[in-house]
Amino acid sequence: MKIIDIIKNKKVTVSFEVFPPKEWAKIGDTKDVINQMVKDSPAWMSVTYGAAGTTSGYTTEIANAVKNGGVTPLSHLTCLTSTKEKINSVLDELEENNIENILALRGDIPKDFTMSDNQYYHHAFELVNEIKQRGKFCIGGACYPETHPDSKSRVEDISHLKEKVDCGLDFITTQMFFDNEAFYNFREMCAIKEINVPIVAGIMPITNAKQIKRSVELSNCSLPKKFQKIMERFGEKPEIMKQAGIIYATEQIIDLMANGVNNIHIYTMNKPDVAHKIMEGLSAIINE
Ligand code: FAD
Repeated sequence: MKIIDIIKNKKVTVSFEVFPPKEWAKIGDTKDVINQMVKDSPAWMSVTYGAAGTTSGYTTEIANAVKNGGVTPLSHLTCLTSTKEKINSVLDELEENNIENILALRGDIPKDFTMSDNQYYHHAFELVNEIKQRGKFCIGGACYPETHPDSKSRVEDISHLKEKVDCGLDFITTQMFFDNEAFYNFREMCAIKEINVPIVAGIMPITNAKQIKRSVELSNCSLPKKFQKIMERFGEKPEIMKQAGIIYATEQIIDLMANGVNNIHIYTMNKPDVAHKIMEGLSAIINE
């Protein structure tokens, strides 16, 4: 099923993100994770694409496992370091496997990579154009409530987002954020810019101190005082931090829903127990 139709047909959606393993030998472990997660009936499950596309076949394999578990898969695809031929072979593979939904991404710029005119893709919108030509896929894109780290300004970032959406995105999913006000401001900016596709809010449950350091470095997102206090007090106590992180994420989602945000995406970090506890905390709301 196309994600845009799921969004249109359901009042509230909660979806999960999973990542494939780095080595093929561990693919079975990831499938076990999927089998546990589908029991919580997420609206869809997105499957990330390894940096620089080194493990692209793994994404399709895991997306198929999601489909076999009865949940709609969303296959991520990055383009920056790819050739047109490689992208088209992945699109062929997705078509052959009846995977209808793609999150079209640029990918991060690798450390030793210099942007040049010689490469085929420079930005995600070019990939969106390429996928759109096939006429078969529901296409999502990424967006950044607190601005993409490469952008010179917020205005520039949101203008590029508008261009990307106008290339044919059906929906956009946000980078993680911990301060809902950042999302509400972003939503307003999108409305002013006439970015009218559904915005799926990405929530990352933080369950250990190491994870937050890395997540903040990568994503440029701010940490509200309330969250910093939790980290200061419980960051070194894994069991308490896990519980506090689950409750913080659940409260964040409830606040978002109370403010009219009906599409939530959980960055599960392949932890079925964490995803399950959040879904439990939302059980009545999801079925509103
Ligand atoms: P773009 O939309 O191309 O934007 C990147 C930067 O370029 C922004 O600063 C933008 O303002 C700027 N820009 C856009 N268009 C133009 C233009 N025409 N001229 C000048 N500047 C422009 N990475 C992975 O490797 N695998 C994944 O599976 C993955 N999944 C993700 C899922 C989500 C929901 C999110 C939010 C991110 C994900 N990422 C993933 C990370 C993503 O690849 C990086 O954030 C990457 O740096 C930007 O990708 P993008 O698609 O947003 O790029």
